Amino acid sequence: MSWEQELAGAYRRLEDLVADGYLSQEEALRVQGVAKTYRFLIPKYYASLIDKRDPACPIRLQAIPQFSEELKTDSDSPDPLGDLKHRPALRITHRYKGRVLLHLTPNCSMYCRFCFRKSLLNELKEDLFSGGFTEAIAYISKTIEIEEVIFSGGDPFMVGEGALQQVLSQLAKISHLKRVRFHTRVPVTLPSRITASFVQALASSRFRPVVITHFNHPREITPESTRAVLELGDRFIVLNQSVLLRSVNDNAQILGALSEQLFEMGVLPYYLHHPDPAQGTSQFYLSVEEGIGIWEAMRRELPGYLVPRYVKDVVGEAYKRDVNSP
Ligand code: SF4
Repeated sequence: MSWEQELAGAYRRLEDLVADGYLSQEEALRVQGVAKTYRFLIPKYYASLIDKRDPACPIRLQAIPQFSEELKTDSDSPDPLGDLKHRPALRITHRYKGRVLLHLTPNCSMYCRFCFRKSLLNELKEDLFSGGFTEAIAYISKTIEIEEVIFSGGDPFMVGEGALQQVLSQLAKISHLKRVRFHTRVPVTLPSRITASFVQALASSRFRPVVITHFNHPREITPESTRAVLELGDRFIVLNQSVLLRSVNDNAQILGALSEQLFEMGVLPYYLHHPDPAQGTSQFYLSVEEGIGIWEAMRRELPGYLVPRYVKDVVGEAYKRDVNSP
């Protein structure tokens, strides 16, 4: 089956999750509102990793809409990092010196329940993703301090090969640009999308892309996702970023096992990200103190190169803050 067919057959309706035994009828009724407020899509491959007998399954918690997404706290924001406030041109977020985000698409292979952009990815709010790319390319061209373009969520690996090559070839003409970086959950949630022609399209420009995968749990590392990562690793630098999520990976054994398995695929754990206060994600929050405890336990058990940097975005700061340092 092609990845397009797989995507076409993904779960988009709660009743299909009920029919296949992932949700009870009562649960489906409870999360009807949530599934309308925030986008919902689960590839059958990723759903197959769910333990149907375990209501606390870490794969389930990341994928299936939960009633707790309706909870609101005072600090929640639909745009916790200020993507929209730092928007000097259509499709651009410019928060950090030397680097810009270029928003290619609002589409993802799965809509993760913990996503900090989940409100912005909602089909009704396409502010980040509206307009063509002319203005964005012109902004990058005229801003000579920009050395790196980062493609981030929506998932840039959901863009077609032709469109991707076109954007990369336009960026390659900008002489002050040195690097491009892709953040993606596609190898985790829809690994069949990593095809030879896609890898070829990524490699088509003068850049050597850096690919940041987003594995959060060792159960996401399967023969399918390993194949996808190895294909990427053959051509590109591949690093991993995880988000620290309550009830999913909030312990040092799980994160340590993840680091070990990533290493076996040739991927180094780069960042462990403290969750951002995004609307609809408070069920995943944990305190910085808890996070530091987990990170320190990892340090005691693992060699330094298997311990990711524990970081947090702080709006207005010039770079991500290392949580474990003053
Ligand atoms: S793939 Fe990334 S951008 Fe898309 S929903 Fe998941 S975390 Fe958010």
